[in-house]
Amino acid sequence: MAKGNINVSVENIFPLIKKFLYSDHEIFLRELISNATDATLKMEHLVRIGEAKIEIGTPKIEVKINKENNTLHIIDEGVGMSQEEVKKYINEVAFSGAEEFLEKYKDSDAKETGIIGHFGLGFYSAFMVANKVEIFTKSWTDEPAAHWTCEGTTEFSLEEHDRTTRGTEIVLHINDDEQEFLEEARIGELLVKYNKFMPVQIKFGTKEKELPLPEDAKEGEEPKKVTVDDIINNPAPAWTKQPNELEDDDYNAFYKELYPTQFEEPLFHIHLNVDYPFNLTGILYFPKMSNDMGMQKDKIQLYQNQVYVTDNVEGIVPEFLTMLKGVIDSPDIPLNVSRSYLQADGAVKKISSYITRKVADKLKSLFNNNREDFEKKWNDIKVVIEYGMLTEDKFFEKAQKFNLYPTVDETYFTFEELEEKIQTNQTDKDDKLVVLYSSNKEAQHGAIKSAKDKGYEVLLLDSPIVSHLIQKIETEKENKVSFVRVDSDHVDNLIKKDEEQASKLSDEEKEKLKERFETVVPKEKYTVQIEALDSKSAPLMITQPEFMRRMKEMQQSGGGGGMFGMGNMPEMYNLVVNANHPLASDILSAEKKEGSQKMIKQCLDLALLSQGMLKGEALTNFVSANFDKIHNS
Ligand code: ADP
Ligand code: MG
Repeated sequence: MAKGNINVSVENIFPLIKKFLYSDHEIFLRELISNATDATLKMEHLVRIGEAKIEIGTPKIEVKINKENNTLHIIDEGVGMSQEEVKKYINEVAFSGAEEFLEKYKDSDAKETGIIGHFGLGFYSAFMVANKVEIFTKSWTDEPAAHWTCEGTTEFSLEEHDRTTRGTEIVLHINDDEQEFLEEARIGELLVKYNKFMPVQIKFGTKEKELPLPEDAKEGEEPKKVTVDDIINNPAPAWTKQPNELEDDDYNAFYKELYPTQFEEPLFHIHLNVDYPFNLTGILYFPKMSNDMGMQKDKIQLYQNQVYVTDNVEGIVPEFLTMLKGVIDSPDIPLNVSRSYLQADGAVKKISSYITRKVADKLKSLFNNNREDFEKKWNDIKVVIEYGMLTEDKFFEKAQKFNLYPTVDETYFTFEELEEKIQTNQTDKDDKLVVLYSSNKEAQHGAIKSAKDKGYEVLLLDSPIVSHLIQKIETEKENKVSFVRVDSDHVDNLIKKDEEQASKLSDEEKEKLKERFETVVPKEKYTVQIEALDSKSAPLMITQPEFMRRMKEMQQSGGGGGMFGMGNMPEMYNLVVNANHPLASDILSAEKKEGSQKMIKQCLDLALLSQGMLKGEALTNFVSANFDKIHNS
């Protein structure tokens, strides 16, 4: 029996492993199963290329708990190791056997073996949970089997063993304070978390299976039960297949497999598949989305060669797409680096822009192939698209082809179509295109109606980030377009008319009318404007200039647009009085000052009421005054 010392340079590594290296002790299992998987894939590869002339069937990995002995066993049917190999691969820490294997077989398409790469400490992570680790291993070659033991110091023992079956068994003698890893439920949970889609079958215990009833079954005959291996993983998940091998149903079924607690079907999927200049596969799903962007618990999962790594894809996937669900599998993403480093990494940047492009292409093809369906889904996908347009310039460009602008009556325009529709009759005095929009059909009903009555298109833009987005669109369109909320001003003032509306009141009368209003309404809140509008338009309207409201909204939702000193901007409104409405003349011709004042107050209350702005005490007073009126009439 050989005794020896593991490389002295790592003398202090065991205490480090135990304490600091991973806060997540649980990943030891992922590491050991990854090694077992590597060894199995290597074996399959050797058989495939004819180097090993043996029958291997369908090899599997078994995970076993032995509570009596306080041990956890990971058993594989892979290539195994000779004594020499144990010395080399196990005792020389940080030596990567996988790398050497790849080097040796690099000319024989080793890539398709999908050897799992580095995960930090690999094998030695076992010492996070075990005070003693044993390896029983028999190489696929004629070399005798080996037995390696180490008790968490730099000393090890290595001796020949009489084992004859090919492969490796790792035995962990679990620490007293890590007993959870002897619980079936805990191990089961970890296997599902990390190994659900690993490429080699993983057996964990057995289960009962009902056999189908035979053809000639008698009435009431119970189906026979057999005990079978409980295979916890799906070794060939959908993303490892080619898109042309899969139907929509397969994609939906895989979605369920990924998120067993999700009941809603996804809206559509995007199959990612590249191998140059980086290797990446995956499937992304657009889930049904609400306006509440914060709400998302099932996140995109990152895998490397089918081993689960994390569900934090920040930096790898552009932020606007982190609202999607699904999986990404890429061996090319460096993992043992900080997030900020990751974002600066060239390969990762390429991956991120590839994903953005694929998503944009998919959206475009959905739009082109079935516009009706795309429109139906618009409400559920717009947040992602709008957020993407706002944050990724490349995406903004591409989205011009499929970003939709729905009207309040649910007609969907692309920007080009909208432009064409409104360019003849919706421009302002500087010949800018005026895009009228509403953020809330109910609250802005009056303003929407009066715009529509005049034949204008009114969009419904109700996403939380809309003020940021329209700001960006205006800039991109070089300010030839202005988005104006339909209640920002009276439409007659917003949109240029062929002929000016004649005023029924003289300038003097207008001045007088203005004074009368100003004596009644608080001037720190309202700026009174007397306008000669259509006589059928409302007599009084409360508006808030577009730029002012937008700045406020952008400030509230954060992320730029806030202007210096606007923090405590008071609520200011314009009070637009229609000089051509008969009520304007009534107010002017009221005999007594009190009479006109009363009329003005009532008009203001009604205008406030119609815009949902009459609240609190003012509303209570208004209502009771009207009850009194009914009573007195
Ligand atoms: P890595 O997997 O990154 O190479 P590890 O520390 O996990 O690093 O493993 C070191 C080496 O030990 C592996 O490369 C492999 O050669 C060998 N090894 C570990 N586990 C097994 C196993 N179950 N069967 C065969 N070889 C193994
Ligand atoms: Mg490893």
